[in-house]
Amino acid sequence: MGLLAGLAELIAPTRCAGCDLPGALICDDCHHHAARFARAQSCPRCGAPFGAFVCTECWERSFAFEAAIALGELAPPLSRAVVLHKDAGERRLGETLGRLLGEEVADCWPHWADAVTWIPPTHTALVRRGFDHGLALASPVGTALCAPVMPLLTRAVAKDQRALGRDARAANAAGTFGSLGAPPARVLVVDDVLTTGATLDAAAATLLDAGAEVVRVAVVARSW
Ligand SMILES: [Zn+2]
Ligand SMILES: [Zn+2]
Repeated sequence: MGLLAGLAELIAPTRCAGCDLPGALICDDCHHHAARFARAQSCPRCGAPFGAFVCTECWERSFAFEAAIALGELAPPLSRAVVLHKDAGERRLGETLGRLLGEEVADCWPHWADAVTWIPPTHTALVRRGFDHGLALASPVGTALCAPVMPLLTRAVAKDQRALGRDARAANAAGTFGSLGAPPARVLVVDDVLTTGATLDAAAATLLDAGAEVVRVAVVARSW
């Protein structure tokens, strides 16, 4: 540890984002607690923790992405860690959460991706936070998979919803992304939270339109 890092530890010791125990950003107990949501019990399409079969939500709709992995459910400690990383300035958590997610993905889908990308923030969110939290999570995942981390998506400027009818509004919301360059065949998209899957679905559809063959997603936390 360098002098500055040592001083920083004296003033504000590293604490677990889940339980406040000093020592690590996410302690072993909290990691294991999050991982009790084992992938053996998760829907292989969307990552929902309802059993190792395609869940009812996935019967009713088809996602553009082929499969999803979540590190755990959106509950403490992960929910707390996601917020501390995104909105409370604990930027080191990006590396920690991304590394844990990368280990999980490398374990489930070894060497699967030709590229790792992430959901780009809106301009407003980027200015407010001062950093791209998706990139921070995606970088260690790329390292774990030995795959390049590439910016493949842009935020399209959404049209004013008020002038649009209902169907057009849905299409406008889904068309939030544009593609940057030609994606390789197998793309893994990283994000912090998957709830309805609409954002990741739109991102995957954009990548497929741009020439990717298969898109999968990996998120820190799954909520429903
Ligand atoms: Zn803890
Ligand atoms: Zn599902």
